[in-house]
Amino acid sequence: MAMAYAMDLSPPTFFSSLTPSSSSPFRRLSTLPISTFHRHSNRKLHILCQATAGTQPQSQSNLSARSGQDRLLKVPISKVRNFSIIAHIDHGKSTLADKLLQVTGTVQNRDMKEQFLDNMDLERERGITIKLQAARMRYVYEDTPYCLNLIDTPGHVDFSYEVSRSLAACEGALLVVDASQGVEAQTLANVYLALENNLEIIPVVNKIDLPGAEPEQVLREIEEVIGLDCSKAILCSAKEGIGITEILNAIVERIPPPPETADKPFRALIFDSYYDPYRGVIVYFRVIDGKVKKGDRILFMASGKDYFADEIGVLSPNQIQVDELYAGEVGYISASIRSVADARVGDTITNFSRKAESSLPGYEEATPMVFCGLFPVDADQFPDLRDALEKLQLNDAALKFEPETSSAMGFGFRCGFLGLLHMEIVQERLEREYNLNLITTAPSVVYKVHTVNGDTTMCSNPSLLPQPGLRKSVEEPYVKIELLTPKDYIGALMELAQDRRGEFKEMKYIAENRASLLYELPLAEMVGDFFDQLKSRTKGYASMEYSVIGYRESDLIKLDILINAELVEPLSTIVHRDKAYSVGRALTQKLKELIPRQMFKVPIQACIGSKVIASEALSAIRKDVLAKCYGGDISRKKKLLKKQAAGKKRMKAIGRVDVPQEAFMAVLKLEKEVL
Ligand code: GDP
Repeated sequence: MAMAYAMDLSPPTFFSSLTPSSSSPFRRLSTLPISTFHRHSNRKLHILCQATAGTQPQSQSNLSARSGQDRLLKVPISKVRNFSIIAHIDHGKSTLADKLLQVTGTVQNRDMKEQFLDNMDLERERGITIKLQAARMRYVYEDTPYCLNLIDTPGHVDFSYEVSRSLAACEGALLVVDASQGVEAQTLANVYLALENNLEIIPVVNKIDLPGAEPEQVLREIEEVIGLDCSKAILCSAKEGIGITEILNAIVERIPPPPETADKPFRALIFDSYYDPYRGVIVYFRVIDGKVKKGDRILFMASGKDYFADEIGVLSPNQIQVDELYAGEVGYISASIRSVADARVGDTITNFSRKAESSLPGYEEATPMVFCGLFPVDADQFPDLRDALEKLQLNDAALKFEPETSSAMGFGFRCGFLGLLHMEIVQERLEREYNLNLITTAPSVVYKVHTVNGDTTMCSNPSLLPQPGLRKSVEEPYVKIELLTPKDYIGALMELAQDRRGEFKEMKYIAENRASLLYELPLAEMVGDFFDQLKSRTKGYASMEYSVIGYRESDLIKLDILINAELVEPLSTIVHRDKAYSVGRALTQKLKELIPRQMFKVPIQACIGSKVIASEALSAIRKDVLAKCYGGDISRKKKLLKKQAAGKKRMKAIGRVDVPQEAFMAVLKLEKEVL
């Protein structure tokens, strides 16, 4: 019986992390949001018995059966440990997670390999490795069985809210640092989040098998930079399986058990959710207080929606149904919920008839920070694009969109994202999974505009910026950015940050030859090619992490592009006054190259209001009207030229310059670079 569910349940409990492969911004830094990137894979994971000391498998079916039961066996709350792994991208988080599952016998060796082979295109191309999203393991320590719940976190800053919620569901964390790389920007950002959540942190130095490993140096770095006591740090190699048992022991010994609050009214923290087309939204949660039973009527406190819990269970790593979950445990609920927006990450679940007095702290609505326009190349695909966005939104409550019309690109949508990586994932999924061919406009941020009549409006589209006479001031979002770099590149990075209107805050040496730079700069300056620049100027050695710190007033203006004296709305941008001239010049020059010559002269101008700040002219294609005059009087030639000039003037007045779509695309690309 147990065998049956062990074999059949292969739900999408995996999520993936991006690893480097192309030059695109943030690729190296990223881990995908759980909610946006669940994979509905056909993988079948066979659950096997935990290979506890001395227990050797007898027959596979027996083992599966035993394992399924073992995992479901209740242990007292004092024997439960909830933890997560925090690491910079590529420092070995997934390898370590896989190893923990293997060593505890949660997943069989053969199936681990299958996971790697079974990736979808997008994952494989980006060099993605599979990670467990949450997993319940059984580990026997000094003859006592323990239940270890590994809760995975999306590692990227775009999803720092999600990271913080999944950390809030744990009591401890393994801090994994690569022995050959040392502390990186993302390590720091995640450690700070873990410290805010009062987690017990166990430092782990990974990859000690590498020839370039310098574990001693890395331990010193962790002590100095983060201030953690590293006397009991664990040196390991996830790949070679060195130090894994020490890590498991440390989890049991050092991470505190959850508090015993099973008598209180039910409260659970949602740390992830995804949309399953057959069962509706599946919610992953940690029970903080009380208990929940199958069939209970549950209430989501922030959204106010209530449902019946049709199915509850644990993740091990497949979904396995159970009847009840107690305070301290981690599990999932399926309750025919129609959209992830009803059961958002960070929300509190309680019992409908025995409500908790207050919800758990820390719930936030996702606010999009980066916007861009998405238009189908083929106008017929507009309805398909709308359908695709609606489907994605079911699974991604942070994605916002509204219809937009552009004279140049027709019908499309203006979409809001949490950050650049989020934007990239959505664009790529639309193109690949829904077979859409899209044009994307340069990403922009949301400006706060104070108008003269005292109103404040949020403006995400340059064409909606009120006229200069109507606005009192404009504020833009600022980020705090931390750059970690070898000392040779400090100069190059300072130059880059200064170019992007960065305000220098602090510099400190975190090791002999590595420094951390702290800057505050406008988010708008970061949404372009900042990350590419950072990597190319430091030969790939620097890393960065940012967080939004709020709005500040800036001297911002709207830069318009006029072609043949006509405003081309989609090319308008909001820029800082100091940059208007260079951006204007770059745009007009590019357009001059791209627009085909006409029968008349076409001026291309960049303007602030009515003031032209940069101008180029596309010369006319000229027919040689004098060709037919052999000699003759000069007045005859003059007459012909005059006639031609008059014709051109008339054409210019009534003629329309069609800006080809390639020109738009090239200019949008340029905008991404120069802005
Ligand atoms: P993540 O991005 O933090 O999840 O990192 P991964 O687990 O995907 O590991 C990144 C790379 O480091 C992979 O190529 C792993 O094979 C490699 N790796 C992980 N752990 C070790 C280790 O202990 N030793 C060595 N030599 N390589 C490792």
